[in-house]
Amino acid sequence: MTGPALSLRGVSTHYGSVLAVDGVSLDVAPGELYALLGLNGAGKTTVMRTVLGMVRPAAGSVTVLGHGLGHGRGDRPVWSRVGYLVEAASAYPELTVRENLEVARRLHRLRSRTAVPEAVELFGLGEYADRRARALSRGNLQRLALARAMLHRPSLLVLDEPVNGLDPAGVVEVRALLERLAREHGTAILLSSHILGEVARVADRIGVLHRGGLIDEFSTAALPARVRHRLELTTRDDARAVQVLAAAGYAPRREPHAVVLGEERATLRPDAVAAALVHGGVPPTGLAVVREDLETYFLRLVGARPPQEGSRDR
Ligand code: ATP
Repeated sequence: MTGPALSLRGVSTHYGSVLAVDGVSLDVAPGELYALLGLNGAGKTTVMRTVLGMVRPAAGSVTVLGHGLGHGRGDRPVWSRVGYLVEAASAYPELTVRENLEVARRLHRLRSRTAVPEAVELFGLGEYADRRARALSRGNLQRLALARAMLHRPSLLVLDEPVNGLDPAGVVEVRALLERLAREHGTAILLSSHILGEVARVADRIGVLHRGGLIDEFSTAALPARVRHRLELTTRDDARAVQVLAAAGYAPRREPHAVVLGEERATLRPDAVAAALVHGGVPPTGLAVVREDLETYFLRLVGARPPQEGSRDR
């Protein structure tokens, strides 16, 4: 198909008097992995519920696989090409894993007899295939829900916090699976998370949602250039080092275990900083250019103060 798999234009969604999504516009291309990143309550789930026609937006438009949502029967055909996992993973508790997938296969009117065994295999559910869903661990229930969402190889997948509850091996598996679906099958994937470090590993593009609004959008490849760097120094006399550096025109900050310089002039030329300290009689005993942690960057982006920085800029 040409054009985006998913397109939102000026979408606003309310719950009563609560404005949960505020004028959001975004596009997800076929084969693209797009992550909505936001703190709790930012509006991620509501964007997804709006995309899936579960709630009707008060303003704006949603186009799914070329079909403008009208919130009526006319929308029906498009849903057969959409897969989703939004809110808590659920399954028929008394049915086994295999039976749950079989129900999904029939609902999707899939003829393929191999779809269920393939999904069982793909999601590492072989050991649990004959176990009732109510007896599954949270992680395996999540695998089942993901397997069900992808069973019919949808063209658009909408996944709210897809790796929630998975162990590290599960996270890696799901990430690889999503990448394969996007790259090999051209599936457009909209997923959400509140962990930048996690989505940076899988998403092509990241949209930052804050208080219902999309406040930033960038390609994951651009991320390294966006995060700040800092030069951390240790010396035998930090108070003196701060004086020497300030006299040399830097803006040093004293932290409990290091003297820190945030300016590019220092991070790009740590040798010049070392030379200034040697010249001032306080040679560095340690010196490192440290990249800002992704979560610190994210909190800075949304204007929240990272907890570990509480004592820094006093
Ligand atoms: P989380 O990461 O915690 O799941 P989120 O980014 O998915 O958060 P939403 O669940 O979309 O955020 O919530 C957005 C806002 O809408 C919040 O202020 C929330 O309290 C409110 N909200 C969500 N669901 C409802 C509802 N059913 N009725 C009223 N307000 C709601």
